[in-house]
Amino acid sequence: MSATYPNLLKPLDLGFTELRNRVLMGSMHTGLEDRFWNIHKFARYFAERAEGGVGLMVTGGYSPNIAGQLAPLASTMNNRATALLHRHVTGAVHEAGGKICLQLLHAGRYGYQPLIVSASATKAPISPFKARALSSKGVERHINDFVSAAKLARFAGYDGVEVMGSEGYFINQFLCERTNKRTDQWGGPYENRMRLPVEIVRRIREAVGPEFIIIYRLSMLDLVEGGQTWDQIVTLGKAIEEAGATIINTGIGWHEARVPTIVTSVPRGGFADVTAKFYGEVDIPVCTTNRINTPEKGEEILAAGKADMVSMARPLLADSEFVRKAEQGRADEINTCIACNQACLDHAFQAKRASCLVNPRACHETELVLTVAPVARRVAVVGAGPAGLAAATTAAKRGHRVTLFEADDRIGGQFNYAKRIPGKEEFYETLRYFQRQIELLGIDLQLNTRVDSEKLVADGFDDIVIATGVKPRTPKIDGIDHPKVLGYLDVLRHNKPVGTSVAVIGAGGIGFDVSEFLTHDFSHQPEGEQVSVEAWQAEWGVNPDFEGPGGLAEPKPTPSPRKIYLMQRKTGKVGAGLGKTSGWVHRNSLKHRDVEMLRGCRYDRIDDHGLHIALTDKDGKAQETRVLEVDNVVICAGQEPYRELYDQIEAKGVRAHLIGGADVAEELDAKRAIRQGTEVAANI
Ligand code: FAD
Ligand code: NAP
Ligand code: SF4
Repeated sequence: MSATYPNLLKPLDLGFTELRNRVLMGSMHTGLEDRFWNIHKFARYFAERAEGGVGLMVTGGYSPNIAGQLAPLASTMNNRATALLHRHVTGAVHEAGGKICLQLLHAGRYGYQPLIVSASATKAPISPFKARALSSKGVERHINDFVSAAKLARFAGYDGVEVMGSEGYFINQFLCERTNKRTDQWGGPYENRMRLPVEIVRRIREAVGPEFIIIYRLSMLDLVEGGQTWDQIVTLGKAIEEAGATIINTGIGWHEARVPTIVTSVPRGGFADVTAKFYGEVDIPVCTTNRINTPEKGEEILAAGKADMVSMARPLLADSEFVRKAEQGRADEINTCIACNQACLDHAFQAKRASCLVNPRACHETELVLTVAPVARRVAVVGAGPAGLAAATTAAKRGHRVTLFEADDRIGGQFNYAKRIPGKEEFYETLRYFQRQIELLGIDLQLNTRVDSEKLVADGFDDIVIATGVKPRTPKIDGIDHPKVLGYLDVLRHNKPVGTSVAVIGAGGIGFDVSEFLTHDFSHQPEGEQVSVEAWQAEWGVNPDFEGPGGLAEPKPTPSPRKIYLMQRKTGKVGAGLGKTSGWVHRNSLKHRDVEMLRGCRYDRIDDHGLHIALTDKDGKAQETRVLEVDNVVICAGQEPYRELYDQIEAKGVRAHLIGGADVAEELDAKRAIRQGTEVAANI
């Protein structure tokens, strides 16, 4: 056991079995669950994490029946053939010394399919389908289906099940008045509304016997109007213990809640105090969750007596060896989850297979295989942004001798600007990870070296990878050379002074981030430091004392020191291209600070008065003209590839690999940059 993380790495005795440490890999839907032909990929994905030392893992959600599926043909555990197939997963995990539970998740009205059912006939704001109300007999049949699914999980070799009772799914829908309007024994007073989860757990326990883990995911903070009160949550937790659960896991927020719960701007361990409030109410182990992404944070929470276990889901996608590295005193080698959601949750919501922005091997373990190279080659990588860093470290891991050239005095490329945005402090971790890998792998890093084609060709490298990134686009606007015009690099790289009224041209990811930066009062939240949990709760209206049901309060954001206009030419929703699961958070964050978002903008000219615009309709016809009397206009109008070096090398007849923004700037993000860098180097 590591002396550094004694609480995190301490075994947990469950009576009939022991977990090797306190790390639970929380349930994540990866997309591999949904198709039987992916079972070997699914098995390898979990086996690598079991080899990495995780104490207990939970699969993505499996519905106990068709009505509960998240989408048509989505993961279901309702027959023996499926259960038999799962023996590949459980066998691989057990062989690697791990333990794994199957999550039983009935989507209820969150299902994205027409057969959905719920406590009452209601429609969720996040599904186009209206749920049918279950009859009393239907409720009984559903309980039986949960029990059958748990028995099938045991037959498949799972060590237990997790019953998903939170996040606004089926069971949670029975618990709250907002979705349960029933008048039979499953509705009305709370003791009736809580009957469903208690019966599910009680009857599963009866059916599977005492030596099978039952985790119950208890919604400890609904974060929606009409959510449960604290007394109700405690009453339910006690009844669930009584019914035979082995562990209570924490659930935070319904999916339809307008409070972010896991995106990167949520401070680390931001909800651990909710679990701490519950801790002590029951005698069985309690697990906390949400935005715990380092062994330090996990240890701190356990040492403070807030829970018995910590659930980390995405951090185990980002690094399958998370626990092993912590055990071996190599925490500085952990590839930390930056909570961006870009390759995991965003993919899940787009019905694409999940992966990880910082670890493209996640869920592709059998496909993106990094073999030792048959011959060590001399590889030059030009540019130490995300693409170049991924290529250089992957090539070096495979045994190649790598020289990494970087014009700047530090690695990171544009991540050095991203990490300055309030709420994106996690991006520092990716740079720390790559810096450490460069040292460990003996990569010859040459900073302050703007390499040219003569040098590259003369040095006679076996392979050259060009990852020189992008340059900002300068739009053709009358007055673009006016002194009040700044580029985003002037703001984020050169720290040029910015006035108190600003027009931001371009509402892509960078326009939003620059607006976030300019609306922050750094005297309240110093740059590089995550917002405190208290300040974050105040901004988003979370009341941890539960003065009202659901744990909600009136949001009280810190006002912006500047007036900001954020603009785009398109007439559609501003920020429509932002991440599926994080875009709404960015939009709301700016709304909290009164940023005025303008669409359909035509930029007529910039002069001493400010920015002259016309607001157009979708046919491009001007409806109104305005002069925004601003001190500065900041250009965030997209980027173009910076690839002169590549063109020069090609002109000399030398072939090179072109990756990241230097390859294609359109739709570029770090997910693509890192994946492309890794894939190219995997094949050198
Ligand atoms: P770059 O990061 O541009 O790196 C290129 C590197 O090459 C630079 O370090 C440059 O100095 C070096 N270089 C250039 N020419 C030479 C030469 N001749 N010799 C030596 N070195 C050279 N993406 C996301 O996915 N999620 C986000 O949340 C996100 N937020 C962002 C926020 C901001 C404010 C910004 C600016 C960007 C953000 N991005 C985000 C975009 C992301 O950072 C880029 O997609 C990514 O950095 C592109 O990687 P790259 O390696 O291709 O290029
Ligand atoms: P972007 O997302 O392509 O946005 C560019 C913006 O500029 C758009 O709003 C576009 O809207 C506008 N624009 C384009 N050409 C213009 C022109 N000639 N004149 C005026 N306006 C113009 O690019 P970005 O904001 O530079 O971001 C670069 C990449 O970094 C993005 O692709 C993104 O994936 C990534 N990134 C991601 C995040 C994140 O949080 N996930 C954050 C930052 C960056 P109109 O055409 O409607 O005007
Ligand atoms: Fe974490 Fe982003 Fe990877 Fe998801 S994609 S696991 S949020 S780093």
